[in-house]
Amino acid sequence: MTAQRIDGKAVAAEVRQQVARQVEARHAEGKRTPGLAVIVVGDDPASHVYVSNKHRACEQAGVLSFRHTLPDDTTQQALERLIDDLNADPRVDGILLQLPLPAHLDERPLLERILPDKDVDGFHPYNLGRLAQRLPLLRPCTPKGVMTLLAASGLKVRGLDATVVGASNIVGRPMALELMLAGCTTTVCHRFTRDLEAHVRRAELLVVAVGKPGIVKGEWVRDDAIVIDVGINREADGRLVGDVEFGPAAERASWITPVPGGVGPMTVASLLENTLHAAELHDAMAPASPQD
Ligand code: NAD
Repeated sequence: MTAQRIDGKAVAAEVRQQVARQVEARHAEGKRTPGLAVIVVGDDPASHVYVSNKHRACEQAGVLSFRHTLPDDTTQQALERLIDDLNADPRVDGILLQLPLPAHLDERPLLERILPDKDVDGFHPYNLGRLAQRLPLLRPCTPKGVMTLLAASGLKVRGLDATVVGASNIVGRPMALELMLAGCTTTVCHRFTRDLEAHVRRAELLVVAVGKPGIVKGEWVRDDAIVIDVGINREADGRLVGDVEFGPAAERASWITPVPGGVGPMTVASLLENTLHAAELHDAMAPASPQD
């Protein structure tokens, strides 16, 4: 069969509009505008493109965006101070530290310094731990975006045999936790997996997040499988491709995400949802005003 395409651009646009409507509804109730602070260190061109995209998405959704662009030689202590200031700033609901950081900086303690209720990337051990314990709060954006895509396509995943290829902290691992939470029987493959093909062939739902073009052969895809390709790779001719051999995989799958235009647009959409969610958490945490 030929797979139906999952249109991530359309679903992401709908999520972003929903956030914009909810921000307007907050204003109508006299509530604050949610705010997102983005920190970018150094001059990695890709990071600056991502940060500009996030800034634009915030503007379109009516979310305040505070951009902190710091030089390449910024110290660990200066970043710690900035994170402390943003943690204390009541206008800031979410803090995002754009990765990768320059090599002299240690990202782990910085990510852990962000208050869990402002951790809109969902990378803090508190938030990952909550997801692992079936109590998700702020969920890592890309895996959350995948779950939104599946739901928006009307796909029921409970009970499916799922295989996640890739086990990074930002995609593969939290993806596996999301799928377990949704009731899948989940296998995780990584660089030490001995027989990747066998695990892919079993999958009724396949999520691939490795960063190697064509690592999953189309002929390995099980008939009627749902295929979600998180990989983004730039070919020598400038084209973007995923990790799955798209053409042959689309011949076998029932549903498939294209690259670009599949999972990619969902990450920023989830980030806006998380920022709105964080604002709601902060509303609930705010001390009662004297009139209350
Ligand atoms: P990463 O390099 O941190 O992790 C890659 C993972 O792949 C590792 O867990 C590794 O063990 C695994 N791996 C490597 N070789 C393998 C093999 N031969 N067989 C099985 N597993 C293998 O990468 P990441 O940050 O998780 O990103 C993965 C891909 O997803 C990249 O292409 C990245 O650009 C893309 N990505 C897309 C989005 C988005 O769509 N918005 C967001 C994040 C990452």
